[in-house]
Amino acid sequence: MRLITLLNHCHHFPGFVYEKARLCPERGIIEIDVRPRRGAKPVCSGCHEPAAGYDHLGLRRFEFVPFWGFVVLLLYRMRRVDCRACGVRVEELPWAIGKHQLTKAYMLFLAHWARKLSWQETAVAFRTSWDKVCQAVEYVVAWGLEHRHLGPIQAIGVDEIQYAKGHKYLTLVYQIEQGCTRLLWIGKDRTVESFEQFFNMIGKPLSDGIASARTCGGHTCGSSANAAPTPSTSSIASTSSPR
Ligand SMILES: [Zn+2]
Repeated sequence: MRLITLLNHCHHFPGFVYEKARLCPERGIIEIDVRPRRGAKPVCSGCHEPAAGYDHLGLRRFEFVPFWGFVVLLLYRMRRVDCRACGVRVEELPWAIGKHQLTKAYMLFLAHWARKLSWQETAVAFRTSWDKVCQAVEYVVAWGLEHRHLGPIQAIGVDEIQYAKGHKYLTLVYQIEQGCTRLLWIGKDRTVESFEQFFNMIGKPLSDGIASARTCGGHTCGSSANAAPTPSTSSIASTSSPR
């Protein structure tokens, strides 16, 4: 069975063709050339509508889900479109967003493992960096925030994780429901100002949150008779995921 047959089966992108797969054994990499399907119009990244082609940019490499221990890279020359509504814009790709080097499929894969392992362990296991695992988690969280349906929040859990060297921390806020713990927010610091941003996001003043908070086992949890234990410091949990 050919690798490209497998890819077409699992990750087929209409309008694009997997052309050739090359193994580079000395670097432990599989490179896969991708090209637009003949006659398929590029899609404008501004208005998400098909538009006329304008020119090509340089070759870009997108990290895909590793395969049997090999790093898998999709190689593609992005096009620019001449959109009537938006002007000259880079095309939109179905497998990647913005300037991300990681494909959506790979970010989903890493974020999935980051629920089970620490971010560092995930990075080592898949021969990638902590930063890329962080990017993957942020992508999934951003998607979740965009598509979330927040009911009344009964309980929240707050965790801190240390990263890099020295005293650098991220603040993670979880919504806790019966049988589900959903990561709602990642703060870049552990100051009150940073935490306040979470309350601004949900449209409640911080004082309300503090008034109803109690401390349990080192984590701050909102009042709830059925509050589940807070997740491990590295985990994320969400009822749904991006495609
Ligand atoms: Zn447009």
